[in-house]
Amino acid sequence: MTPSPPPPSPSRESLLARLRSADVFDLIVVGGGATGLGTALDAAARGFSTLLVEAEDFAKGTSSRATKLVHGGVRYLAQGNVSLVREALHERKLLLDNAPHLAQPLPFLVPAYGVAGRFWDLPFYGIGLAIYEALSGSERLGRVGLLGRKRALAAAPGLESKRLAGAIRYWDGQFDDARFAVALARTAIDEGAIVLNYCRARRLIMEGGGVAGVGIEDRETGECFEVRGRCVINATGVWVDALRKLDEPAAADLVAPSQGVHLVVDRDRFPSSSAMLVPKTADGRVLFAVPWLGKVILGTTDTPRHDTPLEPRPFAEEIDFILTEAGRRLAAPLTRSDVRSAWAGLRPLVKPAAGGRDTKRISREHTVEVSPHGLVSVTGGKWTTYRAMAESVLDACMSHGLLPNRPAGVTRHLRLIGAPPRGTATVSITEPPGPHLYGTEAALLATLPGAERMLLPGFSEAMVRFAARHELARSVEDVLARRSRWLFLDARRAADAAEPVGAILRDELGERFDAAASAGEFTRLAEAYRILPLP
Ligand SMILES: Cc1cc2nc3c(=O)[nH]c(=O)nc-3n(C[C@H](O)[C@H](O)[C@H](O)COP(=O)(O)OP(=O)(O)OC[C@H]3O[C@@H](n4cnc5c(N)ncnc54)[C@H](O)[C@@H]3O)c2cc1C
Repeated sequence: MTPSPPPPSPSRESLLARLRSADVFDLIVVGGGATGLGTALDAAARGFSTLLVEAEDFAKGTSSRATKLVHGGVRYLAQGNVSLVREALHERKLLLDNAPHLAQPLPFLVPAYGVAGRFWDLPFYGIGLAIYEALSGSERLGRVGLLGRKRALAAAPGLESKRLAGAIRYWDGQFDDARFAVALARTAIDEGAIVLNYCRARRLIMEGGGVAGVGIEDRETGECFEVRGRCVINATGVWVDALRKLDEPAAADLVAPSQGVHLVVDRDRFPSSSAMLVPKTADGRVLFAVPWLGKVILGTTDTPRHDTPLEPRPFAEEIDFILTEAGRRLAAPLTRSDVRSAWAGLRPLVKPAAGGRDTKRISREHTVEVSPHGLVSVTGGKWTTYRAMAESVLDACMSHGLLPNRPAGVTRHLRLIGAPPRGTATVSITEPPGPHLYGTEAALLATLPGAERMLLPGFSEAMVRFAARHELARSVEDVLARRSRWLFLDARRAADAAEPVGAILRDELGERFDAAASAGEFTRLAEAYRILPLP
């Protein structure tokens, strides 16, 4: 029996109307990436009145540009950081359980090659990964196993076979980061929060020697709001220092941005349902090849940057590095013309107290700082641990007397909006894109016109309408980059859908929506995600 559709999701207009009549919030969260959204959800679920404002779209910053791994971090284990890995492995399990439609276990292969007849790599990696599995205890996702050469090639037919000794198989998770962010936003709204994209925090309101609120601008209309809050949380990722400096102009920077690039190629270049981890690249890092939504993501890099553009672009050396290093482990080399989309993200790495420029060695752990005026800044960490980070932000607010004490742990088993009932089979997110909606969400989609009209494979007119009505999408880019992931999968094909998506959005959002401008902006962006062969 098809479940009856739930009531319509709150529109942006209704959320803004609530904001206009609001009094003092318990929490105002600035920044709608993993960190801010996780914090807003935790706060709302504990019954705090909560507002979140995001200057762009949810996950427009770093949170849509991850490698898509839900992981403990094998390489942090190699650095001896056991407590970080243990916490992340625990969070990995909670994340997979609470959103099985957006996050799932995935097998990983670590191929081992013999040099001059020596096959030491296999036992070396095997022991490390067995420790990794042991640290997850009863929350392990699968068994570590040793595959001989033949079984390794059967599991990953695209592997370079010359001198291949075999592979170790271990388990981690993968997810759809931007859709996860949208699900967090919607779940927070469901828990009573006001969550708004395209609203920028322009200034801090100071009163009685402390931060008392935020001046916000609705970027769609230019309307300005003065909003008061007991706690203001600065969760602006690599942009965290800009807001900190509105509070304390002389504050030393917290973040050292580091760029990571990913290239996406067709699945036939690595036709495997397992991911591959290349354990040692020329720069001593690891490189992943991850099957995702019908394509393969290759990455990443770790390049220090001094600027923090909203749309960072890969450097030519980073592209060459990934093509060379991934190509070394594939049966056929890769070239620029194999790349369907190339994107870069900036890691908000927490600066070491005393200098040091090598970002590979800077902590991946997060930092929560409460300024003398009460501004709470949080940065660092990773997607996998967003829930634990949110708890530590609220802990800091409570221990500084900014909020009354309320027990933690309410989000441990809080399922995100759209999660199917336990036990329901879900479509694998390694497979090509489709609606990936279940239960009441699928019923909602079924009420919308245009289910049969496909704009791209697996992507219909009805899904654009769903994004506008239920997922707070406001532009062609919101739909084609973060509600569907076509920009990240195949930039040229995504651009082909810009005009029809614009026309459908105009129908949904009304006459004030400028379809031609939105489609034009997206087309230019998609052009930048393409990697053209060198002349
Ligand atoms: C290349 C790469 C690969 C990664 N891979 C993984 C992975 O596989 N697994 C994993 O667990 N983690 C991974 N991470 C880490 C993870 O993606 C980040 O830790 C996480 O996304 C950071 O989220 P955030 O919310 O802190 O920052 P962001 O996502 O950048 O969010 C900050 C937001 O604040 C907004 N903002 C800024 N100023 C204002 C303002 N004045 N008013 C309102 N809003 C504002 C921005 O628009 C932005 O959306 C990866 C990171 C990178 C760079």
